[in-house]
Amino acid sequence: MTADNKYKDLLEKFTLLSQELMSKHTSFRVGGPADLLAQPRDKQTLTSILETAKKESIRVTILGGGTNTLVSDKGIRGLVIVLSALKSNPCMVENTDKSQEDKKTIRADGGERLSTVVKFAMDQGLSGLEFAAGIPGTLGGAIMMNAGTAAWDISRVIDCVDVIDTKTLTCHTIKRKNLAFSYRQLQLGDKIIVGAHLTLAKADPGIIKKGFDQNLKTKNRTQPVFLASAGCFFKNPSTGSPAGKLIEDAGLKGIQINGAQVSELHANFIVNTDNARCEDILALKNLVQKTVFEKFKIKLETEVKVTGE
Ligand SMILES: Cc1cc2nc3c(=O)[nH]c(=O)nc-3n(C[C@H](O)[C@H](O)[C@H](O)COP(=O)(O)OP(=O)(O)OC[C@H]3O[C@@H](n4cnc5c(N)ncnc54)[C@H](O)[C@@H]3O)c2cc1C
Repeated sequence: MTADNKYKDLLEKFTLLSQELMSKHTSFRVGGPADLLAQPRDKQTLTSILETAKKESIRVTILGGGTNTLVSDKGIRGLVIVLSALKSNPCMVENTDKSQEDKKTIRADGGERLSTVVKFAMDQGLSGLEFAAGIPGTLGGAIMMNAGTAAWDISRVIDCVDVIDTKTLTCHTIKRKNLAFSYRQLQLGDKIIVGAHLTLAKADPGIIKKGFDQNLKTKNRTQPVFLASAGCFFKNPSTGSPAGKLIEDAGLKGIQINGAQVSELHANFIVNTDNARCEDILALKNLVQKTVFEKFKIKLETEVKVTGE
């Protein structure tokens, strides 16, 4: 079957992009074409797209804001669903549990920008998301990656998540106690986060703003936030020095393979300084892992998700 025949149903029913470069949808600005790309705006459209893809046995890849993802130069076969448009419901404060007078729960869509959710919480005088100052991407992506800093992560404020199960195409709400969060990951199986409920503490808006501003200032000073990257490339080892310190001590700060460079500002960032390809970034990643292992006998694991052909 030709690609066009295979994708006929999807193309007839939905407005999709063909051969869309993934470099336009990732903060690394790297990645070849996706066969098909969908940007559903609501849960119903997302479910219909998933249903059609399932019927035709078309492989589906999920992306939020693409800020923790590296896509291969050959691109992605099948259908990519980019969820950053999935935000038809505005952020809202939910009915508060009377037994928790010092807290409030907010709800936001999975495709909502994390920065919008953080601002909404601050405007409501709710604390618990200040750590996320300057973290790009969507709320769903942040939950899947258990985004955080050394001090805090998003799992600490999650009450429950609303998901679509891609196998059964049914919607569920999963309580925090049934969510398997760990360092920079959530094991969720074949589910897509379409919304989340976050429980935050009431606090003085001035103090919340001060905490947020301080975090943002530190981030902008210590990380190459204005260069193309996917944030920290490697996970910090569970004990000892963080990945950035190990890479710096291995003498790798500033090292470059074509347009890919170990950041001179923060050695755990690989940055795309000049039209890097995915293969340049992966070659640099391999060099970093090999050198750090040779020097310190420590295996660095990637935090960034690598996907595609
Ligand atoms: C400059 C910069 C600074 C950063 N700073 C930080 C930081 O301080 N702390 C930190 O933790 N991270 C940081 N990051 C990494 C990244 O921004 C976060 O991990 C972010 O939360 C990822 O969100 P996203 O929507 O872009 O995810 P994506 O990269 O789009 O997706 C990440 C993974 O989640 C899956 N996914 C995405 N959305 C959904 C969904 N709705 N349902 C199911 N699966 C989904 C994808 O399939 C993929 O496997 C930084 C990145 C950059 C570029």
